[in-house]
This record gives sequence, structure tokens and C-alpha cells, in this order.
Amino acid sequence: MAGFQTHPARLVRSVPLSELTKHLEFEMPAISRFGFVPGQWLSFQQVKPDGEELTRAYSISSPPGDDARFALCLNRVQDGFMSNFLCDMKEEDEIRCQGPFGDFILRPPIRDTIFIATGTGIAPFRSMLHWLLGDESRHQGRQLWLLFGNRTEKDIYYHDEFLGLAAEHPNFHYCPTLSRGSTEWQVLRGYVQDHVAGLAKGRSDMQAYICGLDKMVKANRELLKSLGWDRKSIRYEKYD
Ligand SMILES: Cc1cc2nc3c(=O)[nH]c(=O)nc-3n(C[C@H](O)[C@H](O)[C@H](O)COP(=O)(O)OP(=O)(O)OC[C@H]3O[C@@H](n4cnc5c(N)ncnc54)[C@H](O)[C@@H]3O)c2cc1C
Repeated sequence: MAGFQTHPARLVRSVPLSELTKHLEFEMPAISRFGFVPGQWLSFQQVKPDGEELTRAYSISSPPGDDARFALCLNRVQDGFMSNFLCDMKEEDEIRCQGPFGDFILRPPIRDTIFIATGTGIAPFRSMLHWLLGDESRHQGRQLWLLFGNRTEKDIYYHDEFLGLAAEHPNFHYCPTLSRGSTEWQVLRGYVQDHVAGLAKGRSDMQAYICGLDKMVKANRELLKSLGWDRKSIRYEKYD
């Protein structure tokens, strides 16, 4: 594992996911393999025009591989420096990062699991789900639900990719929910917490992972605890 080393990371691919969100793929030219565990994050460093050095955390959104590549899913925060700096990077541009860090990782043994995300909170789950579903011995046929909340259809990142994974794996249930979906939207409506009880009630044998902004994380943790879930079965990562 790369530990606390600082690495240069070169942008090799930049794909818009929505008006304000990008999928960015990097490679680390100084190393041949970058080891990390799905769910971990990297710390990015950049000097601002006024000379202040800024560091910000970003979850790795790709599964580990045999190379030195990784991806991020990030959105532009209004008046924020780092998120806009990263979104404005051009292919071949470099930035320094440190890591991997974090213990928001899958805890064995694998159980039936709900992954709850809003917005770019999907990043660690994209990594975890590709890794888990990549090998039967990792998911062991457990039931895996991804409850993914966004505002409208155009805000759902990686929609086709998750539909594809669900078509391939009968034990993976992709549940996107929209708070302001169009009249044509046929799947779930409302906030993620409106759908948690339906999956989690009477199932305190399961595990939940939650990722996104503080308010959403809090609401879902409280809800699961009110359903009798042990706090140790609820793992979370907050972005703010
Ligand atoms: C462990 C961890 C992992 C993270 N992973 C991701 C990720 O995968 N993708 C991603 O897009 N972000 C992620 N974040 C958030 C990220 O680190 C930054 O906080 C965010 O990009 C804003 O940084 P900034 O320098 O652009 O703005 P800042 O100058 O830090 O913030 C500007 C303003 O926006 C508010 N703000 C901060 N973060 C957010 C946010 N996420 N949404 C809305 N408002 C915010 C601040 O309170 C502040 O008022 C993660 C945070 C943590 C702690």
C-alpha cells in the first residue's frame, strides 16, 4: 500500500457527468502500481494564487487494479478553490496527492448490504461495487442495494453503468430516487431516507454504508438506529 507518500497524479481523461460534475481519471507516473482499498480517499494539494497551500480529500471512485490509475467523481462547489481547480484541469496536467487514507471500507464478513449515497457520495460505492461484483468470492451472492438520491434525471451519475451491473448480477439492486424527477421518471421518488425503512426494517442482520453531506448522513443513521440497528452495522463518510 502506498501509505503517506506524496505522488504526482496526471489527468488522463476528463468526462462531464452533469453540468457541474466530472469523472476524472488520473495516473501516477512515478509508480507502476497504486494499491488502495475500495472506499479510501486521497488528499490533494495545490497552492492558491495568494500563496496559501490547500489540501482537500476526494474519495477514489474506481476499483483497485494492477496499474497506477484511479478515478474521482467530483462536483464544482460554488466559490470553492480545489473542486473548481480539479474540474478545470486539462488532460496531461499534473497535481500532487497523498494517500490512500481512510477506514470507510468494507468490513468482512460480507452481509446483505445497503449502500446509501447522494450526489458525489456515490464515489466510494462505485469503487466498492465494481470490486465486490468483480468476483463471486467477494460478494458471495449476498443481496446488495444501492440507494442513490439525486434531484433530477440529468443529475444521476453513472446511471447506465449501474443499470448494466444490475442486469449482470441478480443480487445487485440499483435503486435511484429523484426528489424532482420529471413526470416520465418510473423508478423511486423522494429522498433516500424515504426508502431506507422499506429495505432495512426487521433486517438488523444487514450492514449499511452511507456517504454524502452531513445532513443526509445524520438523517439515515438516526433512521436506521430507530429501526433497532446496532451502530456498528452503520458505517458512514461525511463530505462536509
Ligand atoms: C473524506 C472526504 C471525501 C470526499 N470526497 C469527495 C468526492 O469524492 N467528491 C467531491 O466532490 N467532494 C468530496 N469531498 C469534499 C471535498 O473534500 C471538498 O470539501 C469540496 O470539493 C469543496 O472544496 P473546495 O476547496 O472547492 O471548497 P471550499 O473552499 O472548501 O468550500 C467552499 C464552501 O462550500 C462548502 N462545502 C464544502 N464541501 C462541500 C460539498 N461537498 N458540497 C457542498 N458544499 C460544500 C463549504 O462549507 C464552504 O462554505 C470529500 C470530503 C471528505 C472529507
